[in-house]
Amino acid sequence: MTAAKRAPLAPGLYFLATPIGTARDITLRALDILASADVLAAEDTRSLRKLMDIHGIALEGRQILAYHDHNGASQRPKLLTALEAGKSIAYASEAGTPLIADPGYQLGRAVSEAGFLVTAAPGPSAVLAALAVSGLATDSFFFAGFAPNAQGARRAYLKTLKDVPGTLVFYESPKRVHKLIDDMIEVYGPDRDGVVARELTKKFEEVLRGKLTELQSEISGRNLKGEVVVLVARGELIEFDENSTRQMLETALQDDSLKGAVASVVEATGLPRRTVYQMALSIGKSRET
Ligand code: SAM
Repeated sequence: MTAAKRAPLAPGLYFLATPIGTARDITLRALDILASADVLAAEDTRSLRKLMDIHGIALEGRQILAYHDHNGASQRPKLLTALEAGKSIAYASEAGTPLIADPGYQLGRAVSEAGFLVTAAPGPSAVLAALAVSGLATDSFFFAGFAPNAQGARRAYLKTLKDVPGTLVFYESPKRVHKLIDDMIEVYGPDRDGVVARELTKKFEEVLRGKLTELQSEISGRNLKGEVVVLVARGELIEFDENSTRQMLETALQDDSLKGAVASVVEATGLPRRTVYQMALSIGKSRET
């Protein structure tokens, strides 16, 4: 095993990425920082303590300060005072990369606004591990975090992401994955490809890939356990040229009023109402002549 190196660190805040399952998924630099920082802070002090024990890093008289969503406001001044005294601070969330659906944002902001160094020792994050194993496009992706719990709000949130030109990545509790996929089918349609990535880097890692409806039946009746990321492929961007829009309008005008036909074509193509209306008028005129 490579022993962590203890060396003086420049004063500042060091965000450390920690394992999302397998304890050895931690960088040598993160271990060096844990061995060397003057102040240790963590979302979950017990998890950090355990990780340090596994990697043979002694506390050397240092305490681990708890910093999480519920005590951030009262802990930030203490950490800023430590920085003013020239100290280095290592901060880790419970697992993965701090700030990624985890605390740290307000701390990083306060520290940089106060003029101190904010830096990161990058490493594991479930969003990247899930993308890597998903088989979905990774040239562009959108991290959507946790969707709201209430169905109405969840569907509204999914709708806002419908046309994002990239793979969507959601974190979700295993209890709500079924509902999330049901709503995705409702909003994105049954044919979009999706992935359920569960327990990444752990013993029972499982990656399910398929159309959203296939995923729905695959997990139906299953009591999923552990941690889950759900991904959805980018929607097909259909380009509507003048000819295809005109054809669509002509078909709609056979059974519908001008107003109704325009409304349905605007809905289907996303084109501006004015453009479709002008086209419908010109079709009407050419029929009259
Ligand atoms: N900061 C973490 C990161 O960088 O990934 C994420 C923290 S967030 C509170 C926890 C969520 O991340 C879980 O509910 C799950 O959606 C996802 N997650 C974390 N570890 C995972 C794993 N090993 N496999 C699948 N999903 C995981």
